[in-house]
Amino acid sequence: MSDALKILTYPQDAAILRQKSAPVAIPDMQSAYKLAKQMLKLLDGKTQLGLSAIQVGKALRIFVIKIDKFEKIFINPKIELRTRDRTTVIESCLSFNTAVDFYRTTRAQGLKISHRTLNGNIELEQFMGLPALVIQHEMDHLEGKLMHDTGEKVDVKAEQVVDLSALKA
Ligand SMILES: [Zn+2]
Repeated sequence: MSDALKILTYPQDAAILRQKSAPVAIPDMQSAYKLAKQMLKLLDGKTQLGLSAIQVGKALRIFVIKIDKFEKIFINPKIELRTRDRTTVIESCLSFNTAVDFYRTTRAQGLKISHRTLNGNIELEQFMGLPALVIQHEMDHLEGKLMHDTGEKVDVKAEQVVDLSALKA
């Protein structure tokens, strides 16, 4: 495996991005975490807050989120519960043109998610607000869903993009 991961983009890499990702087998947990750490590096200096393995061409149920100093790796994640309260959010995605492709979608405000730790144990956590929104965007990637499947394109002017960074996902 090459160390240099490349982020795949839509529509050029649609055939890969549309794949449904498969669970990581327990014996492969170490290499999955290694891949996830490399993926976190790709988020350095980006306004986008999450990345899924399929976006680097690996159809595995792995995604990472990075919100300021908070970083988290999710392997074999499953949303166990969503709040009934929903919120509208404007999202961008590293697999799209991050300067112009913004989509408005509705997401649950909070959720409970289970995932596998490095030891293969199941961890259950709950998130509200921004991390919960990012998680739902990344969970879509694991199913091969992209922003235009769940959202509606919004036209934004350059000066609005700055404001949108508060809702980046
Ligand atoms: Zn995305």
